[in-house]
Amino acid sequence: MTQTPESASRNVALVTGSSRGLGRAMALHLARAGFDVAVHYGRGAAEAEKVAEEARSLGVQARVYGADLTTPANAGTLVEGVIGDMGRLDVLVNNAGITRDTLAIRMKDEDWDAVLQTNLSSAFIACRAAIKHMMRARTGRIINIASVVGLTGNPGQANYVASKAGLIGLTKALAKEYGGRGITVNAIAPGFIESDMTAELPEQVRQSYLSSIPLGRLGQPDEVAALVAFLASDAAGYITGQTIGVDGG
Ligand code: NAP
Repeated sequence: MTQTPESASRNVALVTGSSRGLGRAMALHLARAGFDVAVHYGRGAAEAEKVAEEARSLGVQARVYGADLTTPANAGTLVEGVIGDMGRLDVLVNNAGITRDTLAIRMKDEDWDAVLQTNLSSAFIACRAAIKHMMRARTGRIINIASVVGLTGNPGQANYVASKAGLIGLTKALAKEYGGRGITVNAIAPGFIESDMTAELPEQVRQSYLSSIPLGRLGQPDEVAALVAFLASDAAGYITGQTIGVDGG
């Protein structure tokens, strides 16, 4: 989205779960593109502050927000807090996400609920709060970070797969509802990206995933973040309702 001159207020982007991993890279790419950024964390306050410091060193403003997104109502408070403090919200990236992997027959209700609430319900509530504001501005970008497994399915991840497939459906529905209001809504479906989330995988699982990737390597957070920055840019103004893979093929 077109950046305003230095003296006027810059466009503002909120990236949930930007204390580390993919979200951190997204916040920094958006800062590099000239957005003021709201860096959000669940538990990593110190890490989030470091990300904000790094963003400020790129010449933009950055504020840090803590909110536990296992309680979806907190997502609404987060978005309203950012708009209240930073005066606007031009880009919302729903990136925070968790896994609680196990076979469906062993999956506890709380593992299902925690993943659905964090990955899907919180994203919906953040979208709802952001859209109310973006409708008044008659412009806005929402980018939901899904996963390739939301398209393909994956054993041992019924909760995670359902949350990411839900996010893809939510993206399509919101794109249709709010396209007429100048708001684009897209999803990104990363494949296997180097982060704390994938570092937890056993070596055997890692090797088996690797052998199925045509490009023969894991992706890097920056490779997903570059697409976020593109979708937030003016150049992506005619793209909505899409799910774009970043998965090495
Ligand atoms: P990660 O390294 O585990 O980081 C997760 C981020 O989400 C952290 O900033 C964390 O904040 C935040 N978060 C987790 N639980 C939260 C909660 N209850 N409340 C608030 N924030 C919470 O994960 P990642 O690999 O960067 O993944 C980022 C997104 O990409 C996720 O949605 C994931 O599903 C998706 N994705 C990742 C891959 C991959 O290969 N890595 C592939 C496909 C999709 P704190 O640390 O501050 O709590």
